[in-house]
Amino acid sequence: MLIAGNWKMYKTASETVEFCAALRDAELGDVDVVVCPPYTSLHHAVALLAGTSVAVFAQSVHWGFDGAFTGEVSAAMLSELGVTGALVAHSERRQLFAETDETAAMRVEGALDGGLSVIACVGETEAERESGETETVLRRQVEALRAVVDEDHLDRLAVAYEPVWAIGTGRTATPEQADEAHALIKGLLDVPVLYGGSVKPDNAGELLGKQNVDGALVGGASLELDSFLEICRAAFLS
Ligand code: PEP
Repeated sequence: MLIAGNWKMYKTASETVEFCAALRDAELGDVDVVVCPPYTSLHHAVALLAGTSVAVFAQSVHWGFDGAFTGEVSAAMLSELGVTGALVAHSERRQLFAETDETAAMRVEGALDGGLSVIACVGETEAERESGETETVLRRQVEALRAVVDEDHLDRLAVAYEPVWAIGTGRTATPEQADEAHALIKGLLDVPVLYGGSVKPDNAGELLGKQNVDGALVGGASLELDSFLEICRAAFLS
């Protein structure tokens, strides 16, 4: 089980220090835990969580080694900081910052080639689900990743199934909807699949109990230590 907290554009460096100092002392059980702070907090998170089982990932990564790409960071830059992975193609990047299946695939390939682990995000919009296109959309998004991922790198890749209509809305996919989407994704790409979309302490157990759900990508509920730890505990018990 893998529980990853996506902090989005929340927590300054000093807030990160406070959170990670408390997380460092928490009992996490046999669960893989990842935090994804903003770039400005990565160094602090790495320093505080060194020697623990908690990994620090970035929220995106560029595909190149270096170059004239204002605002971007490379896998090499993240690795040197002690960051061991990155999210790629979160739906907010797809919707607000013009991330496409093509750039998502380039980022995934560059990050894996650069030695990072990756959580690549896929998921349908509400309109796509309502018009019966969920399977088509997921196939297209996952096949774009599958086309570029080297077999030897599969052990560093996970996919997060995040229905766009469930992110930050308080609405979740039902455990059955999540399980069905995860089974489809796993049939295309044999990697762990996390569920994301309004995961909270009170729904985590049911979602994580499904056969094809290998963990969760948590946004809002990862910002408070107590709720994040409760979700980690639910994963431990699943
Ligand atoms: C996310 O940011 O990936 C996410 C799933 O957010 P939330 O848990 O707040 O819906």
